[in-house]
Amino acid sequence: MTRELTCIGCPMGCALTVEVENNEAVSVTGNTCKIGENYARTEISAPVRAVTTTALTAEGIPVPVKTVGSVPKDKIFEVVAHIKRTTVTLPVKVGDIILDNAADTGVAVAATASMDN
Ligand code: SF4
Repeated sequence: MTRELTCIGCPMGCALTVEVENNEAVSVTGNTCKIGENYARTEISAPVRAVTTTALTAEGIPVPVKTVGSVPKDKIFEVVAHIKRTTVTLPVKVGDIILDNAADTGVAVAATASMDN
């Protein structure tokens, strides 16, 4: 089976053609660099994504946050739900960890902006 993907590794967005057998990429073409091949192989066998969203303070002030690394694609909604249940205490600095283990993925969540109270 053949899958067509668009690489998300950089703004070039190379069109990838992936030959798939038994849920594994056996060949990748259309990539300009190794990142595209790695992306295609992961996307076929175990897709992952970084999650960017906001967490709230007790006063309802949104604080931009992002996972420190990627989480399995099928865990994204659980990760977002866990972040939404987490209350951030101001002040925060960029890179402050607001959650150690989002939805039991082993991936932390960090603030992506500094905010004072
Ligand atoms: S294959 Fe490389 S050059 Fe092409 S979109 Fe992906 S990262 Fe960018």
